Amino acid sequence: MTSLPKRIAELEARVATLESGKAATKAPGPNDCPRCHAVMEFQSEEEHPITGPMGHMEHTLRCLNCGHEAKRRFIPAKGYA
Ligand SMILES: [Zn+2]
Repeated sequence: MTSLPKRIAELEARVATLESGKAATKAPGPNDCPRCHAVMEFQSEEEHPITGPMGHMEHTLRCLNCGHEAKRRFIPAKGYA
C-alpha cells in the first residue's frame, strides 16, 4: 500500500478539476445570452407587466455578440429571477 498517498493526491486533483468545471456550468451569469452564451448588455427597464405591482421590473437585455434580445424579470432585492 505504499502508493496510496500518491493515489489520494491524484484523486484530490481530479475532484478539484471536476468541481471547478461544475461550478462554471452550474452558475451561468444572469446576463448570459440564451443563444450564444455571450454577455448581454442592459438596454432598458420597465415595470413588469404581471408582477410589477410586487415591485418587480422587466429588463430588456441585448447580446453584444449575436444581437439577440431577451427580457428578464428583475427583482430589486434579489436580482434576476
Ligand atoms: Zn448571443
